[in-house]
Amino acid sequence: MPLTLTEEKAPDGHERLIYAEDPASGLRAYICLHSTAYGPAAGGCRMWNYASKEEARTDVLRLAGGMTSKNAMAGIELGGGKSVIIGDARTDKSEDLFRSFGQAVHSLNGTYYTAEDVGISPEDMAVVARETPYAVGLDGGPHGSGDPSPFTAEGVFQCLRAAREILSGSDNLKGQRVLVQGLGHVGMSLAQKLHAAGADLIVSDINQAALDEARQKLDAEICPVEAVFETEFDIFAPCALGGVLTAETARKLTANLVCGAANNQLATPEVAEILRARNIQYLPDYVVNAGGIISVAGEIHKAGPGYREERLTGIASRIRDILADSLRTGKTTIQVADDMVESILTQALQVRKGAA
Ligand code: NAD
Repeated sequence: MPLTLTEEKAPDGHERLIYAEDPASGLRAYICLHSTAYGPAAGGCRMWNYASKEEARTDVLRLAGGMTSKNAMAGIELGGGKSVIIGDARTDKSEDLFRSFGQAVHSLNGTYYTAEDVGISPEDMAVVARETPYAVGLDGGPHGSGDPSPFTAEGVFQCLRAAREILSGSDNLKGQRVLVQGLGHVGMSLAQKLHAAGADLIVSDINQAALDEARQKLDAEICPVEAVFETEFDIFAPCALGGVLTAETARKLTANLVCGAANNQLATPEVAEILRARNIQYLPDYVVNAGGIISVAGEIHKAGPGYREERLTGIASRIRDILADSLRTGKTTIQVADDMVESILTQALQVRKGAA
């Protein structure tokens, strides 16, 4: 049986939801276009061992919505979308699988651009790109932007310093205890920057090799995965998976600042209020972690070299504005950021209507 694409009913607020299946290659994937109001949808592809098709569907809807906010805030003229492949990234990858996924992306005629997310490497994306020009984050070529992770890490690092400056009057990280949760593509790069800036590192991961590397090269203290919220530190940098801040963990957290790359760090919206009430400054994930999509956007728009650097610097200045507004008005940082996104999207729609 060939590749089949099934258009499912997208929940309110989402434009399209497509389920792609190809028994020959083993592909089972969802692609969600949340919004194309601000340009073609763009967002990475995640490969994850979801327990069920429903779990994958829930994840893609949530992640695609986050991309709309992230891309609007980053000023990159792209809408929000995401894709997820159901499978184990360690054992289920094959050329056929990624080519089949590439065909599914291509069938959307450029309304969705895909790139790397958790479980997907630039090598995998290069296979997808054999089937479609709408696969980005590629190594090489005239506009290839490569792995977006170092740019994500740089954006997180700049935000962390900007917030320190607002909160303490100095962006010096010397002696600050920073816990990096997840030492993957982004987390390890961030840990290196923090170490170079004089921070005292604490690291937590399920991957022993990454922990050993951080201990040996970055003089990091290791925190067992289950002890993160029982440990004392000043800054929390979640760089593993989403949902780590629940009502329970937010009440235990000892840090006064949360700034990390993981998408959807707050398990539920109420957590933002718990953090605010405890005077813990949470820097909205979709603002902080935009460095990777900014890098990819340069490739999509075939932009010159200044494009990425200019917009990367813009991330930290937006965080300064958001934090200052939150401290002044008492609104949560996420509320301030969401209001900004709404006004950006409303304006984009008005411009589009005016042009039509
Ligand atoms: P990755 O897969 O390279 O790294 C994730 C790391 O988290 C791995 O080392 C893994 O072992 C570890 N981990 C898994 N479960 C854990 C747990 N319970 N406790 C501690 N560590 C655990 O992924 P990445 O590309 O570094 O992305 C990290 C996060 O940042 C993800 O949430 C991703 O969606 C988000 N993000 C990444 C980018 C990017 O450019 N790569 C951009 C925006 C957002």
